Amino acid sequence: RDPDARKPAWLRQRAAQGDKYARLRESLGELKLNTVCVEAQCPNIGEVGRANQSSCHGAAVFVARVNAFSDLVMVCLLLPQCWNGGGGAGGEGDGIATATIMLLGDTCTRGCRFCAVKTSNKPPPPDALEPLKTAIAIASWGVDYVVLTSVDRDDIPDGGSGHFAETVRALKELKPTILVECLTSDFRGDLEAVASLANSGLDVYAHNIETVRSMQRIVRDPRAGYDQSLGVLKQAKACKKGMVTKSSIMLGLGETDEEIKQTMADLRAIDVDILTLGQYLQPTERHLRVREYVTPEKFDFWKEYGESLGFVYVASGPLVRSSYRAGEIFVQNFVR
Ligand code: SF4
Ligand code: SF4
Repeated sequence: RDPDARKPAWLRQRAAQGDKYARLRESLGELKLNTVCVEAQCPNIGEVGRANQSSCHGAAVFVARVNAFSDLVMVCLLLPQCWNGGGGAGGEGDGIATATIMLLGDTCTRGCRFCAVKTSNKPPPPDALEPLKTAIAIASWGVDYVVLTSVDRDDIPDGGSGHFAETVRALKELKPTILVECLTSDFRGDLEAVASLANSGLDVYAHNIETVRSMQRIVRDPRAGYDQSLGVLKQAKACKKGMVTKSSIMLGLGETDEEIKQTMADLRAIDVDILTLGQYLQPTERHLRVREYVTPEKFDFWKEYGESLGFVYVASGPLVRSSYRAGEIFVQNFVR
């Protein structure tokens, strides 16, 4: 049975493998970046991807052997096939070369029902040298904007916030012009952990609320929660004047329009600047089913609605994910 048979046309179309794809492949080669997308011949190459959900890093893990310094670094390059032309590493259009890096390993201590990441109560300990190795690798690539993200690490006392902060500091020291977004877990609501990361020198603090209040217990691990996520974003905003904050909501899980509006209002009430909205796609049969395929027109409506509430930027579309055009959106709205 074709697993995509239920999908509407706008999610089934194959993306063109034209010039853009070729140029991206070429630039990846120049940067000496290998992606698992290419090496594992991921079936989503050339297709509208299902892999990346709105989560802290998505439902697929991309391992790249970057160079001799950083063979432990996890990389998801935002390939246009999966990102509908929006992402790009050393890509085109926006001129903001962007990469997403996963820290703290590939195994999460939580088990959200929309996310296909490996889980364990006791993942291997983090590599103490990872912040430095990651910074050296990224500084050597020529990217302008990097999204640092991770699995949740409830097994580490600070949830990994110190590890993130160390990476930001090392990166800014090695390459002061680089823009850094940290897309973090909720650190179990530990506001000191949030503050220490928010004050590390990053440019954008992102944390995904994922879904509306009524769906939290169904969709997310029980250790996550709506108010806890709002608390993280509020704390991050309060830490530094001008701090840019960002969040993301998946649609199609059974939420109502009124609930989406309420969630947007709650995010605006704590001054979140950037919001991304995308279609939830079921990564495997074991995961939550899609309740609704939201039309592109409805996504357009949500963009307009969100911007009328005062978000500086709303990225909204079936294939939009939390890192969608992250560098371009930040630079166009907050730097220039
Ligand atoms: Fe596959 Fe896209 Fe993920 Fe690469 S980014 S592994 S092509 S789904
Ligand atoms: Fe996935 Fe949830 Fe873990 Fe994030 S916290 S990696 S969404 S299981």
